[in-house]
Amino acid sequence: KEFEKSSSKRSISFVVVGHVDAGKSTLMGRLLLELKHVEQRTVDKYRRQAEKTGKQSFALAWVMDQRAEERDRGVTIDIATNFFETELTKFTILDAPGHRDFVPNMIAGASQADFAILVIDANTGAYEKGLKGQTREHVLLLRSIGVQRIVVAVNKLDMVGWSKDRFDEIIQEVSGFLTGLGFQEKHVSFVPISGLNGDNIVKPIEDKAASWYTGSTLLEALESSEASSARALTKPLRMAISEVFRSQQGTTTLSGRIDSGTMQVGDVLVVQPSGETAYIKSIVVDKDTQDWAVAGQNVNLALTDIDPIHIRVGDILCHPTDSISCDDSFTMKAMAFDHLLPSPVDLHRGRLHAPGRIQSIVATLDKATGDVVKKKPKVVQPGSVARITIKLESKVPLEAGQRVVIRSGGETIAAGLLE
Ligand code: GDP
Repeated sequence: KEFEKSSSKRSISFVVVGHVDAGKSTLMGRLLLELKHVEQRTVDKYRRQAEKTGKQSFALAWVMDQRAEERDRGVTIDIATNFFETELTKFTILDAPGHRDFVPNMIAGASQADFAILVIDANTGAYEKGLKGQTREHVLLLRSIGVQRIVVAVNKLDMVGWSKDRFDEIIQEVSGFLTGLGFQEKHVSFVPISGLNGDNIVKPIEDKAASWYTGSTLLEALESSEASSARALTKPLRMAISEVFRSQQGTTTLSGRIDSGTMQVGDVLVVQPSGETAYIKSIVVDKDTQDWAVAGQNVNLALTDIDPIHIRVGDILCHPTDSISCDDSFTMKAMAFDHLLPSPVDLHRGRLHAPGRIQSIVATLDKATGDVVKKKPKVVQPGSVARITIKLESKVPLEAGQRVVIRSGGETIAAGLLE
């Protein structure tokens, strides 16, 4: 009960998927603009640049593309960090791709996402192709790395006169498509929008032709999408350390996001893989000191009674009673982006990086059903899903159900779920 009193903001991360030109960048630019994280003059600047090249309608998209370029100059594994916030929630857009091929970025983003926004172009005949091609690939990828919730933004409804029939038709087809790929209906919601005009994103639709619609805005749908972290409150505490600050007078400060469970000042925590224990001296969430913190929050902790040599970035904090166990061999279901065969690789989860190798390929699997297609193939082709085993050089705190990324030579070659 006391958790509910907590006044601090939830933090939620999401990825944006959908066919090229569905309107992903425009929509993200719109959200950032309306929630004041991009100023109008920034949009105007890009609009002027866009006008020079005769692409004025791309103004909002350019804001996002520009950010993508800034990001590309940074460290490769780092993910775009675009924030916007409401009174209740701080949202992080993990990736909002522009016009280039973005799958590797999306994987890095999606492996930390609470949910996905699937942008659909409502124009006659526009999205149907996507359901067979690119959109289908994105959705399969989301599923194979365990993203369960999807908010479907049915975009460009202004172009079809806010037709209720078209909206209903899209709901029927796309929900059939998503349930066919293993998503549960209760985890999928549909919102009619116009990213370009800003209708039903933050404010309701102005056009009278849309008076039939009385449902939520996109922002409201996003706000109600934290079911996964609500459930996570009752699970054992897991917090991945993303930064370790300095230690002074026996106190070590660090930060990270609580993936599941709750913590309280005075709790004993165990740091894995070292297995050493510490006490929580203080908890800070969004600059406020508080007694509690819960799943979904980004926290700063001060710990006492531990030698900081036992605390590293990527380690996991737990309670001693239901601590995570550490292991050096794992089975996982992976979607391949490159050829996979027994060879040295690195396993990544958030800030945890562990060197090891693909030990064996158990079987290739049907992408939609998960049924075994072929046992013990020599190699997994790009685009296929397979069950593989991984052997790491040392024991790490990872457990079944977690999303991981496999990299080799600096490239992401696969992503998937530990079994
Ligand atoms: P992306 O490739 O998915 O990122 O798509 P963009 O955001 O670049 O949008 C592609 C094109 O669709 C651009 O010309 C946009 O101006 C246009 N567009 C995006 N959203 C809407 C919308 O809601 N209504 C209309 N009429 N056009 C839109």
